Amino acid sequence: MNAVLVVNAGSSSIKYQVIDSHTGERLAQGLVERIGGGAPEGGTGRIVHNAHGTESVRELPIPNHTAGFASMLDAFAHAGSAIETLGIVAVGHRVVQGGSDFIEPVIIDDAVAARILELSEIAPLHNPGHHAAIVAARDIFPNLPHVAIFDTAFHQSIPKPVYTYAINPDVAAEHGVRRYGFHGISHSVVSRRAAEHLGRPLELLKQIVLHLGNGASACAVDGGRSVDTSMGLTPLEGLVMGTRSGDIDPGAIFHLLRKGMNVAEVDALLNKRSGLFGFTGSNDFRDVRAAAVAGEPEARLAIDVYVHRVRHYVGAYLAVLGGADTLVFTAGLGENAADLRALICEDFEWCGLVLDPDLNEAADRGARVISTPDSRITVMVVPTDEEAEIARQSLQLVAALDSAHDVH
Ligand code: ADP
Repeated sequence: MNAVLVVNAGSSSIKYQVIDSHTGERLAQGLVERIGGGAPEGGTGRIVHNAHGTESVRELPIPNHTAGFASMLDAFAHAGSAIETLGIVAVGHRVVQGGSDFIEPVIIDDAVAARILELSEIAPLHNPGHHAAIVAARDIFPNLPHVAIFDTAFHQSIPKPVYTYAINPDVAAEHGVRRYGFHGISHSVVSRRAAEHLGRPLELLKQIVLHLGNGASACAVDGGRSVDTSMGLTPLEGLVMGTRSGDIDPGAIFHLLRKGMNVAEVDALLNKRSGLFGFTGSNDFRDVRAAAVAGEPEARLAIDVYVHRVRHYVGAYLAVLGGADTLVFTAGLGENAADLRALICEDFEWCGLVLDPDLNEAADRGARVISTPDSRITVMVVPTDEEAEIARQSLQLVAALDSAHDVH
């Protein structure tokens, strides 16, 4: 067996999956949430575990990430398959921010763990939780290799003039202010799978990937390498998202501060109360669509603003790449919202992009082409699978190190 335990942890939750990395099969998955509680005695945490088609739910105090992993081990045992029996050979940790340091997956040792914690300075919402989970998981599974897979790593190929903001270089360097980009695991797996589906070499393709989920970003991929992306120092820049504004004049922030809002309020406004939610009170596109169909003007505007912003980036990346071979939709909205895809692709015939309305509407689920046979740009839907990609990259690194070890 070559199973990988994939861990995607935040400050109060641990999502986990055990994936057979050869077949991609999920052997088990679950969610530990409300870690640290809030109430006295650590409050009540919760674990939802799925294995063999059965879901179990337990509520119990989960004061920290170590207790979270312990409750996960219990859940495996209760479900009748102790974790030791699953043939796990590595633990793959998703890490949102790898800064400029990490351009590829790495085995986590003490120094790597410490650096991930230091990078909390530029990712205060994400890296502290990752670090807590890494420390706990290394304690609980001391004999397994732990691998960090970074959301930023795929974008480390972006050229300097593209990742540099036009501010004082000393200030930028001192505070790590530059474009890092996120969703890299998704952009990487989706662009690779698009090439595989077409049976064309990844190295020869210019691709524009639109990851449209709750978080959303666009990426220009040239020959399998990211050359531009819409998220920046943080995952706030770029497209309109479920609750995030995306691009906004930084001057608007100063204006709001001068008008009496404080930093925490503006942060919450732009990250949690903007985007689709800001217009309609829901971050779910299905609600926004229903409200628009019912004639709600703000919901219609939300969709118009959303579509305009995506098209703006598609146009930009056509320029960055010098044309494109594929335009690939992925994630919750990208994979499911055919009406949104149609709006985004409207009036792009000038550059040879022609959507096929029937293929676009077809209730297919796998990777597929949705443009006409003579469309110069091939429009595709390719489901993302970040966990399978984390498992694949973790196993690849561990196998490479094992074989290097065998040679010596
Ligand atoms: P996350 O970024 O949290 O991983 P997802 O990629 O799962 O998010 O996307 C979730 C979003 O996808 C939902 O909030 C909803 O807006 C959208 N979505 C999911 N299913 C559909 C659907 N059938 N039609 C339209 N939108 C959908």
